[in-house]
Amino acid sequence: MTRDDFQRLYELQGIDSGIDQREALLAAADDGGDVLGSLEAARVAVEALQEDLREKQSRQRKLELDLETILADRDRRSERCYGGTVSNPKELAALQQKIAELARNADRHEDMILELLEEMEAVEAAVAEQQESIEQLARKHTSIADSYERTTSRARGEIAELRERREMVVGATDEALVREYEAIRERFGGIGVAVLRDGTCSACNVAVPRVLYPMIERGTSAVRCESCRRILVIPEGEG
Ligand SMILES: [Zn+2]
Repeated sequence: MTRDDFQRLYELQGIDSGIDQREALLAAADDGGDVLGSLEAARVAVEALQEDLREKQSRQRKLELDLETILADRDRRSERCYGGTVSNPKELAALQQKIAELARNADRHEDMILELLEEMEAVEAAVAEQQESIEQLARKHTSIADSYERTTSRARGEIAELRERREMVVGATDEALVREYEAIRERFGGIGVAVLRDGTCSACNVAVPRVLYPMIERGTSAVRCESCRRILVIPEGEG
């Protein structure tokens, strides 16, 4: 380890803080994720409505077919009943009763079909409403995503540059020192390096014992603040 390693470590801290700052900005910016969630929920909802509609349509078709069968049966029996071929009064009475029963059944089917048609109309209206809201949400999402792209493009560009610079700095710095720095940074809120300035640690403002100054200046090993445990450095041109 040399003095230069600590100068680079100081730069690395600046780079990392810069990346953290911009990443926080990106995290706080609305990328349209919430609207996208609503959009997906609306799509799922409209699919469920459409499925319900299909199910009602098939029930309607089935009822229409049943009604046709009932009416055909009724017509067939009416023909027999009033065609003059049946003369037995008992048989005639039974036929009339059956015809009346079929007529009631046909009425019931017509009522069910009408009820179903009303339900289908309501579902169709709900589908239309849901589709309208999907279009609105989709437009909103596009606009938010565009605005996110515009407002964050600078930060994203800067992050890319900082990362590039970071790679160079890390590549040139003592590996063990970088590892130590990263471990501290992870534990202590992103700050692994502090500056010895006016006799105090810049991270925690606690006085650094004078006896440590020469060691920090020499830069042959990491000297850590006794209070906050950050690696102490004296930047070029300071101290
Ligand atoms: Zn400190």
